[in-house]
Amino acid sequence: MADKPPVAAAPGAAAPVAGPRPVPAHAQQVSDPELPEQLLMVPGPTPVPEAVRRYGSAPLINHRSAAFTDLWARVHAALRQVFQTEHDVFVWPGSGTGALENTIVNCFSPGDRVLSLPMGAFGERWSEIAEAFGLRVERMAVPYGEAPDPEAVRQRLRADRAGPGPHFAGVLLTFNETSTGVTVKAPAIAAAVREHGALFLVDAVSALGGAELRMDAWGCDVVATGSQKALMAPPGLAAVAFGPRAWDACQRARLPRSYWDWRPYKQKPLDPPYTPAVSLLYELDASLRRILAEGLPACFARHLALRAVARAAFPAAGFPLLAAEEHASPTVTAALLPEGMDFHALSEALDRRGATVGGGMGPLRGRMLRIGHMGGLSAEQLLRFFGVFDSALSDLSWRGAGAALPAARSAAARVGAV
Ligand code: PLP
Repeated sequence: MADKPPVAAAPGAAAPVAGPRPVPAHAQQVSDPELPEQLLMVPGPTPVPEAVRRYGSAPLINHRSAAFTDLWARVHAALRQVFQTEHDVFVWPGSGTGALENTIVNCFSPGDRVLSLPMGAFGERWSEIAEAFGLRVERMAVPYGEAPDPEAVRQRLRADRAGPGPHFAGVLLTFNETSTGVTVKAPAIAAAVREHGALFLVDAVSALGGAELRMDAWGCDVVATGSQKALMAPPGLAAVAFGPRAWDACQRARLPRSYWDWRPYKQKPLDPPYTPAVSLLYELDASLRRILAEGLPACFARHLALRAVARAAFPAAGFPLLAAEEHASPTVTAALLPEGMDFHALSEALDRRGATVGGGMGPLRGRMLRIGHMGGLSAEQLLRFFGVFDSALSDLSWRGAGAALPAARSAAARVGAV
């Protein structure tokens, strides 16, 4: 795609502080079918299928119109199916972090105690948000790469219940920790939280639509997500589902809130109080239709098959997996860098060959790479990525070069991914 000439400044307009920044090569490629596609393998945002993307450029409509009401109702009905809930779900313009803040301000009052179960950077972020709003957060953290033990959580909650109080008002769980590629055994933790009586709040930002999460059947009170991962829509929408216990808490909660407040949404469920992100809703509508047409069980099975491919390929090239099989995420795989491999050299070699990956976070910065295999990413694209990976390793004269793609192919054949 040719660069557009910079727009001339209007007479009298302030001079721009700096010249236009160069558009990265892969961003220039976005709408040019002649050029090979840059494989966006970061664990979100994920590649948005062309059939979804084209809805984003549809003409805008008035958000106080019957056409918009239809769109809004359709998106929310579909979201309820994907969240597997009969309760309320609402969508705000915002990112996943906004969705996490939304859950805190609607459920709690200053000084409330919450138990947080961080197992990586995003669980830590949610704990910090809760602290920023004046909650007293107790962390039961596990090292990066591990998952909280449901029995240990049960014991901690029983001890809290038996104590003099005030008791925990909520438990915060990152269902799928994107910084480590670990998924939690959430039903067992949900049961322990139910027994205690606290609200159970779940971050499903990199899980919803890719990993089985039964909000109502498991007893989750609040589930929060963003549009840009397994939901295969662009970044920019935050969705939060809440059940009756959370709605009761919302009416008692005393934390300051305005934009995220659930109450105006609940009062007029078909008439959002502020300007909604109409174009993103068009795209989310299209992506949810794709997910539901595939069917949730098939969609989850597809993600598990992609996981098997990723988990076969990295070790074949000498990159050990961070997460043990029993906690391995269906949507994100994190692989440790072998001795002598430099992340920047690897990610630059990958970029040159046409693939972008994520790096380590927190204590694993510089020691790991992470890929997303969720949403609209196909098995063919994942195999193509491992071909690119082999080529990048070969560029770096790495001893494991050439081993990832054959391992990926045979795993894909074994699990029926291709
Ligand atoms: N929680 C999890 C599990 C995530 O993976 C992310 C983003 O990667 C977030 C929260 C934050 O979302 P966002 O970057 O959209 O604010």
